[in-house]
Amino acid sequence: MTTTIEQLNSGQRIIYSRSNIRRAFADFDDTDISGMYLNNNDLVVVYNDGVEKLFDKRVIKDAFKDFRSRCPDFFAYLGPDLKGPSFWRNNCYVLYKGWNYQFQGSYRLPQAIMQQKWGDKLQLIENEEGMKAFLNNPDYGFGYLIAPDGVLLPAPPLSIDDSDEIAQEPDLSPYCSCGSFLQQKEVLNEIQEEIPGYEPTCKHLAWINRYREFLSKRSALIESNPGMIEKATAWSYAPPAPGEQLGQLQILYTASGKMAPINKWRIYKKDVRYSQHDAWDLFDAMLENEFVPFPAPALTQLKPFFNKKN
Ligand SMILES: [Zn+2]
Repeated sequence: MTTTIEQLNSGQRIIYSRSNIRRAFADFDDTDISGMYLNNNDLVVVYNDGVEKLFDKRVIKDAFKDFRSRCPDFFAYLGPDLKGPSFWRNNCYVLYKGWNYQFQGSYRLPQAIMQQKWGDKLQLIENEEGMKAFLNNPDYGFGYLIAPDGVLLPAPPLSIDDSDEIAQEPDLSPYCSCGSFLQQKEVLNEIQEEIPGYEPTCKHLAWINRYREFLSKRSALIESNPGMIEKATAWSYAPPAPGEQLGQLQILYTASGKMAPINKWRIYKKDVRYSQHDAWDLFDAMLENEFVPFPAPALTQLKPFFNKKN
């Protein structure tokens, strides 16, 4: 073997990582690899015994893009009491890790309790460095600082000395404080050499964008129904029981108004067991059919049905 094995640069190493190759090619064997190099449209993997295998670069790039922009389930980033991201400042939000919905009783985890204590007090942390240090504390893994519309720093007060300075264009590109996003940002030029036009993203940005889309569709539906909301659903989520992966999402619906007594509500598809992975699609379907979803605790008359504490 006289092939010189070129080192992949840092951007290429992120794209053509072993896990991305496996995502693209399920039968990829990642043992006994001596090196990798790029050759035209292929990634060439060289094994210790000298065997070389070719993998189509495009397929791995697609796997990389899909993986970085995947959207976790609805409950993955809700804070205590089904709280969505909290607006902080500088156009940034705090996105909660979903500690309260990990498993039944996980609301008693120290990480979940930390969120319950601090969820309403985040404004007390005044600067970005302090906030990042707070969120990064490994004991609590509170969540992420995220700006889906870009970070906007307050304009400095004008002084006469600054008067000939041209105001800077605000940077509207999304931001997230997670390691994956920062890693992509750091080697963006190298990534863009492989994938022209690529912009950094992460599962947190994918999630917050989908969450905001859900909220805006829901508000639009409420606004288009002046007066009483007739078609409504109520949903409740029980996190996975011990040893299980799937939680249970239960839905009631009515066409008699959201305040209708409990006997006017029906269980949606009684025989189907829905989990956290069905939530986004079910919410989309409700809104498409003009049913306004409400979290069960908002409708006290339904308490006898949703009486379980998770
Ligand atoms: Zn992120």
